[in-house]
Amino acid sequence: MRIVAFTILALGLAACAPAPAPVETGRFGALRVCPGSVANAPATDRTRQVRGFEPIAEIGGASLLRAPVDGCVSSGFGPRRGGAGSFHEGLDLYTGAPRTIVAGGDGVVEFIGSRRGYGRTVVIRHNARTQTRYAHLSSYARNLREGGRVRRGDPIGRTGDTGNATAVHLHYEFLIRGRAVDPLTAGR
Ligand SMILES: [Zn+2]
Repeated sequence: MRIVAFTILALGLAACAPAPAPVETGRFGALRVCPGSVANAPATDRTRQVRGFEPIAEIGGASLLRAPVDGCVSSGFGPRRGGAGSFHEGLDLYTGAPRTIVAGGDGVVEFIGSRRGYGRTVVIRHNARTQTRYAHLSSYARNLREGGRVRRGDPIGRTGDTGNATAVHLHYEFLIRGRAVDPLTAGR
């Protein structure tokens, strides 16, 4: 723990260690798969609730929401049929109308801006090796600043269809040392 705390301090990410945010359940405590055919869908029960869903992932030294918006899974993590070499590096959460996206975990806002394909994007760094990425946003939270601290559950923006998106949804990535891992199964 001491080494981790020192590393974070050395990177200037935290002047003091904040108390961990309370575990969010409520609207993030359950997750459904959207109706229709969904690529790389997780196993569900008959009402399309994701089986054994755990809202919080303990991964890379961070506590991260697996689904930081009230939406349904419209595409899972993994290879996509059709496009050779095409791999979906995140979890898509369809929301219909724009909805509030919250920070998946405590951290520092590392990037706010448009990126090709991703559209309006936010990247949060949670520690030296762990980041989350949020893509296709319609808008950013007004008080969001690069370099600013966020707590898990803080609003960071709203879902949209900017970039390469055909419906209003959040494309959400867990990045460990820059490599994407499945937000639904990481740390299990
Ligand atoms: Zn996606």
